[in-house]
Amino acid sequence: MSQARLSPGVVPGRLTQDELAANFVDVAPPLDRHEAQVAADRCYFCHDAPCITACPTSIDIPLFIRQIATDTPDAAAMTIFHANILGGMCARVCPTEQLCEGACVRMEAEGKPVEIGALQRYATDGLMAKATHPFRRAAATGKRIAVVGAGPAGLAAAHRLAAKGHDVVIFEARPKPGGLNEYGIASYKAVDGFAQEEVDWILGIGGIELRHGQALGRDITLEGLRAEYDAVFLGMGLGGVNALRAEGEDRDHVLDAVSFIRDLRQADDLTALPVGRDVVVIGGGMTAIDAGVQARLLGAENVTIVYRRGQDRMGASRHEQDHATASGVRIICDAAPVALHGNGAVAEVEFAYTEDGPDGLVLTDSRFRLRADQVFRAIGQRLDGAPEGLDLIAGKIAVSPEGRTSMDGIWAGGDCAAGGNDLTVTAVAQGRDAAEDIDARLTGRPVEIPG
Ligand SMILES: Cc1cc2nc3c(=O)[nH]c(=O)nc-3n(C[C@H](O)[C@H](O)[C@H](O)COP(=O)(O)OP(=O)(O)OC[C@H]3O[C@@H](n4cnc5c(N)ncnc54)[C@H](O)[C@@H]3O)c2cc1C
Ligand code: SF4
Repeated sequence: MSQARLSPGVVPGRLTQDELAANFVDVAPPLDRHEAQVAADRCYFCHDAPCITACPTSIDIPLFIRQIATDTPDAAAMTIFHANILGGMCARVCPTEQLCEGACVRMEAEGKPVEIGALQRYATDGLMAKATHPFRRAAATGKRIAVVGAGPAGLAAAHRLAAKGHDVVIFEARPKPGGLNEYGIASYKAVDGFAQEEVDWILGIGGIELRHGQALGRDITLEGLRAEYDAVFLGMGLGGVNALRAEGEDRDHVLDAVSFIRDLRQADDLTALPVGRDVVVIGGGMTAIDAGVQARLLGAENVTIVYRRGQDRMGASRHEQDHATASGVRIICDAAPVALHGNGAVAEVEFAYTEDGPDGLVLTDSRFRLRADQVFRAIGQRLDGAPEGLDLIAGKIAVSPEGRTSMDGIWAGGDCAAGGNDLTVTAVAQGRDAAEDIDARLTGRPVEIPG
């Protein structure tokens, strides 16, 4: 074995500054005006458009594409923002192949959908670059609403409530707003500080106060918020990470994929970020793909994602899987970790092949090992510290379709609420819809939801 292999594998600076800068460029660069016109011309402007139904925020997609086609992109952006105030981020991160583009009639007929995501980005980027915030607040209602969490759900709720004339205070545990848009989304999907730019733009409506370092359960209580505010919206996401439950999981260099991605997103200098030579990622969702791809982009030589079920059961879409394999990441399915070996630091992961039978997933006696100097757990997140007194379903806050929890005056949405699909766009839809329901409850006005 060579000397290099014996040396500690997890080191910073595997690539130069220039190589890293080239690796972490925008994965889907924006369309220019001409490209946008050409892409818009492919739309059939369908009646009963299936793309609208497939969008969790029900954006009127044919309308905004027609507005681009007629060279009125700001009007297109407003069509988008009326339904989805985080339309800029969703244009970058939505798994469109599973949502609008997957449902596009052009996809069925030709295998090539209208580029809805790219067109949405073209329109929203253009309007967001303009100096003024395009929404005006309704007359003040005198009502005060507390929002817990400044992620997509909390921001969408806060913006809609502020637009309706309520005063909103967002309580955010972390030093920066944005939730996983800031701390979780893969760097190459939202480059150049877009997450913070978008938050600043959303807050531009006015009437929203953001208080940082304020964690529910530590600095504030639900009872306190209920007493002080007319309504409370909980959008605190999922702070906990599931354990592997495999022997040796506590060895050095076994990390949560979400923490690795957070450190990467917050790093001023990527050459200072340690990464292994042989990286193993355990999981099958978007987090696993993002951790694996970004480890490769940081210079890891061998990156393997191992998922316990078949490829068709992976949470990550086929497009995401293809992106991973095109980036040099290997994907092994139908295998689960049983032990992590090593002397202090992890050196190998032992897996058992699995079989999906009538009684669920079983480990077979067929085993294999992968060399690993760094292991990322990406097997799902859970709600940590759910406020007492709220009904839960499968560990998440139980909500009605309008986002009402079991406690009067408390609404919830986004990842912390039961029944969602852990996507940014769904969190936005749920924050928006809960805000509409809060407004209807407090003022008697009708609910205004697109679709
Ligand atoms: C690594 C990773 C990559 C992802 N990539 C994609 C993607 O490409 N596309 C996609 O559609 N979805 C993606 N997702 C999912 C998406 O990010 C989430 O569904 C979405 O962010 C949920 O929004 P949220 O507002 O419910 O929660 P979060 O974004 O988690 O925001 C919750 C906010 O609440 C704050 N908070 C938590 N607890 C408290 C407390 N006690 N008191 C006060 N504040 C608190 C947090 O600090 C945070 O700011 C990804 C998720 C992960 C983990
Ligand atoms: S389904 Fe496709 S072609 Fe039809 S309106 Fe939507 S984007 Fe246009």
